[in-house]
Amino acid sequence: MSTSLPVLSHPEAAKAFLHDGERAAWHDDALWYVRSKRDRATDLPEWEALREAASALKAHAMSRLAELLEAFEQRATASGIVVHWARDAAEHNRIVLDILRSTGVKRVAKSKSMLTEECGLNPCLEAAGIEVVDTDLGERIVQLAHQPPSHIVIPAIHWKKEEIAQLFHTAMGTPAGESSPDALAGVARVHLRDALLHADAAITGANALVAETGGVVVCTNEGNADLGMHSAPVHIACVGIEKIIATRDDLGVLLRVLARSATGQPVTAYTTHVTAPRAGAAMHVVLVDNGRSARLADAEMRSALHCIRCGACLNTCPIYRRSGGYSYNHVIPGPIGAILAPAVNLDAHRTLPFASTLCGSCGDVCPVKIDIPAQLVTWRERSAAAGMLPAGYATLFKRLGPLLASRTRFNRAGAWARRLLPVLRALPFLRRLNPWTRPGRDLPVAPAESFREWAKRTGRLS
Ligand code: SF4
Repeated sequence: MSTSLPVLSHPEAAKAFLHDGERAAWHDDALWYVRSKRDRATDLPEWEALREAASALKAHAMSRLAELLEAFEQRATASGIVVHWARDAAEHNRIVLDILRSTGVKRVAKSKSMLTEECGLNPCLEAAGIEVVDTDLGERIVQLAHQPPSHIVIPAIHWKKEEIAQLFHTAMGTPAGESSPDALAGVARVHLRDALLHADAAITGANALVAETGGVVVCTNEGNADLGMHSAPVHIACVGIEKIIATRDDLGVLLRVLARSATGQPVTAYTTHVTAPRAGAAMHVVLVDNGRSARLADAEMRSALHCIRCGACLNTCPIYRRSGGYSYNHVIPGPIGAILAPAVNLDAHRTLPFASTLCGSCGDVCPVKIDIPAQLVTWRERSAAAGMLPAGYATLFKRLGPLLASRTRFNRAGAWARRLLPVLRALPFLRRLNPWTRPGRDLPVAPAESFREWAKRTGRLS
């Protein structure tokens, strides 16, 4: 197996993001605000029961994946929806392009879909001469800037309003320096409404496919998906096969945990369950595998398929908040990206499972209870087994083994470390030598005693 390093590893890309310290601090604060909103929204007596139910219904759906997908296809087809199956990204793009060409589509209004990002649909359609307008405001901002989304729910979270003002001034002719959010939103509304009302086709993603109804469920806070699919003569929903759930009752659970986890709202502003094409219009659903079946066969990593793309693990992750979405070099960033990307290419994404403090917060907030920290550790083990750890790691951990295996030795080393830390903090040249103390990572103040000593002294440990 090749062990060549990826073009830009997570630490290298994170360093580039941290270069602008002000932006990094502001990014951190902005995401912590969303995380805090989520905390308030999930302060419900039944929250843990809802998470249990959401986890169970996704596990149940994955255990009956083929059966539920076939039931969905049967019911959707009976209602007049055309269902297509795509093995991979290339087949997905070909199917979408064929539909658009066969109906003479020249202009597409697209609502947010991480699946189409994963498949690289926009460049494929643009190369074929079809204009694509991303109609989610954040998506439109990054599209105008020729960037991918940096967050799965808030695609332009890394953009400041002054930068958006400059972008809109260039792309839409807004007055120079006009950075009032209300004014910018007003201009964007007119611009996007025009794209939505004059599109020949609407492409959406889906938050769920319901086997019981043969329906596609789309949630947005801007109403752009609804306006597109209720205006254009053709609607194409592009969906990963893991989005299937069994029943309408399951949907109730999923929608409750999704909105509260994603944006801290009790419900998403617009939730539409489409079970048939509009009169006189065509509707297609493209079901995409693109590696999902292989993941299903991997018992240790299977539960990553339960992800409902709420973004809560990104918002809470101290690494994502401080290193930005692009440092992951993968379409899905953050903790969930760090366990999805290695399944696509472990060699290229070998640094991602290490982009974590293993604090466990991602697993604690995940509404479908994916044990992300455990999967990060398993990917680390797999990288080590494949000989992908950086030079010196194997020797280092071999040497550390005896220390970590003995409580006495570990306690003594801890006592020495507490004495040495204040000295190390005072030696700035060490920052250049030790990556743990470079800018962006503050060496903490050493506590006077160990946790065990504290617990003994305060009577919490006998
Ligand atoms: S892994 Fe969990 S918390 Fe992260 S995006 Fe997916 S569902 Fe949300």
